[in-house]
Amino acid sequence: MKYRSTRSPRPQISLSAALAQGLAPDGGLYVPVEWPHWSQDALLADALVPIATTMMRPFAAGDVLETSLETICGAAFNFPCPLTTVTADGALSVLELFHGPTAAFKDFGARFLAASLATLRRPTDPPLTILVATSGDTGGAVAAAFHRRPGFNVVVLFPQGRVSPAQQLQLTCWGDNVLGVAVRGDFDDCQALVKAAFRDSDLALRLHLSSANSINLGRLLPQMAYYAWASVHHWRQFETKLSFIVPSGNLGNAMACVWARQIGLPIADIIIAQNANRSVVDFLDTGEWRPRPTIATLASAMDSGNPSNMERLLDLTPSASDMRKALSACTVSDEQIRQRIRHDFAEYGRIWCPHTATAAEVYAQLEPPRRKRPWAIVSTAHPAKFPEIVEPLIDSTIKLPPALAALADRATHYEVMSPEIESLRAILGSLAG
Ligand SMILES: *Cc1c(COP(=O)(O)O)cnc(C)c1O
Repeated sequence: MKYRSTRSPRPQISLSAALAQGLAPDGGLYVPVEWPHWSQDALLADALVPIATTMMRPFAAGDVLETSLETICGAAFNFPCPLTTVTADGALSVLELFHGPTAAFKDFGARFLAASLATLRRPTDPPLTILVATSGDTGGAVAAAFHRRPGFNVVVLFPQGRVSPAQQLQLTCWGDNVLGVAVRGDFDDCQALVKAAFRDSDLALRLHLSSANSINLGRLLPQMAYYAWASVHHWRQFETKLSFIVPSGNLGNAMACVWARQIGLPIADIIIAQNANRSVVDFLDTGEWRPRPTIATLASAMDSGNPSNMERLLDLTPSASDMRKALSACTVSDEQIRQRIRHDFAEYGRIWCPHTATAAEVYAQLEPPRRKRPWAIVSTAHPAKFPEIVEPLIDSTIKLPPALAALADRATHYEVMSPEIESLRAILGSLAG
């Protein structure tokens, strides 16, 4: 399998080259040059790792990672993604993607990327420094995935005072090869610093900077694995295709779902749930792609006015009419998020995080005939990551899942810096020793 940029058919490069590069040199995003067809063998397996390995195999065909795929999937997907039933009639299920070390779905992609880069590393290679900017969830997942991996340092920049206490804990509790840095500024300042560091060729070369950005194929492809597992699991039980509602921001999770159906997995409809950042909803309505300034919402990990993976989605379905055949999109307001969390707790005893609540709200709004079909809402984070929002709505305390409880006792440490490249250079320089 080869990969090309969304902006040009050539050059075509290997999977491991695409993982190492992240973004294509022409500014495009890497996509497969052809679509493999999903192997019926996957139907014979029942567990996540063998299904993920079978599904990923054609994507790694001919690459140095091919022979290590089973080991990589085994190391990356060492926690479950159960599909649990919500309604008594069994029509609605939840795909729970929050059982990993930082209790959000980004653990899947971050762990697969870390295991892949570790496999590609030779013992004589100098240490790589993974530099990421985060508005909350990404940094924690990346830090956890690379923590104590020999040959990797991780520096996570987050906006001081603008991440939730639970998120800050996950950015600052690791120690060893992971350094959290609070930037006196906002998320855009953090992102600008990362870009400046990559442009600074002296810094980039001396420190062997690398990114674990969400546009990296190494984070996107493995996200197909949980759709493969859930849809195959459902098919084996009921011989019907499962439909998914995906809470979306930069559209990485939704893109993985669309790709999973593209290779022939038993998936029917796909709905993108957006918060007030409604760019995809508007595109499907008007046919015009208009990125907007980002609006802050309760589902903050989905706050993106200009979703980075739209370029990949447009590569597959270039016009609004093509895209309408492939998926639909709905927007959900903060007030609807609040009401949905309250309602579904009272009705089903289920506690949603604000992101998952957008998908639950979209399900509740489906026309009754459509709602009769089997649906899964995708739960992207555990509600205990957002207690300040969720607990007042349900008027009870949320029990920490074991992974988050284990972090709660760890000592935290972080550096504080002004949003200037000189300050970042000083911090990175001290790492190089
Ligand atoms: C990142 C994130 C999302 C959005 O995922 P995209 O792949 O960017 O669309 C949704 N929910 C949670 C909890 C997240 O952390």
